[in-house]
Amino acid sequence: MGQQYIPKPGSKVDLSDYDPDDHGGYEKEAAIAETDRLQEKLIALQEKLYAESKQSLLVVLQAMDTGGKDGTIKKVFEGVNPLGVRVASFKVPTPDELARDFLWRVHQQVPPKGFIGIFNRSHYEEVLVVRVNGLKPEAVWKRHYDHINQFERLLADSGTRILKFYLHISKDEQKERLQARLDDPEKRWKFSLGDLPVREKWTDYMQAYEELLERCNTEYAPWHIVPANRKWYRDLVVTRAIVETVEAMNPQFPQPEEGLDTVVIPD
Ligand code: ATP
Ligand code: MG
Repeated sequence: MGQQYIPKPGSKVDLSDYDPDDHGGYEKEAAIAETDRLQEKLIALQEKLYAESKQSLLVVLQAMDTGGKDGTIKKVFEGVNPLGVRVASFKVPTPDELARDFLWRVHQQVPPKGFIGIFNRSHYEEVLVVRVNGLKPEAVWKRHYDHINQFERLLADSGTRILKFYLHISKDEQKERLQARLDDPEKRWKFSLGDLPVREKWTDYMQAYEELLERCNTEYAPWHIVPANRKWYRDLVVTRAIVETVEAMNPQFPQPEEGLDTVVIPD
């Protein structure tokens, strides 16, 4: 079920084939109830993952501005023990970061065993904003698809499960969300004038997304193209994929020490 939005690895991706309004036939109330049910499972599974401390999960979130990365993190991980979750947000690289290879700052943020790591933006910016704005020569960013696949392979071989989500909204939906940010005094702080030139390059970004969805969608680190115009359906799709993955990881509580049956706690 959670596999339904993963393109076939190696296949061509045309984002116009993916409807951002898709809601899988769900009504809003039913989707929310299902997400709540899955969340209970996620809370229990994460306790085990943390206790077991042998494997980790990396969740990568990418989207256009207003696509819902922040909202997804807030909703999906509601109630999950913060002790075992780490969020990393990737901004414009600092001079120190630019002085290293592009994966240097990313590798430092991968989740240790027992943890769920969430990337709010990620190494994929290197084949998105960098490509669209020509921040590096084409000959440089073109090689990053292979670098990324190799890096993710290394993580997978080291006990990290990787799930990547592209939150797919329509350009019209983005307009509405940007307008809502302007109109609502409590959301206005989120409005950035810098989002407007990015919006102008929508088509270029979609092309960049299509290429990375083709080239970096692997068995060991699949991309999900999440219909994201309806927040409640987006949350359901992401929660379900995470729950199914952690279930398959099958974390177990560690064996307690021997001889505990006869222990008497002293007064
Ligand atoms: P968001 O827009 O994700 O909610 P934000 O508004 O809090 O986050 P911004 O200040 O917009 O944060 O920072 C993210 C910006 O950093 C984006 O414009 C993104 O494209 C840019 N960025 C991230 N990684 C890179 C990179 N490797 N190279 C260049 N720019 C990058
Ligand atoms: Mg922003």
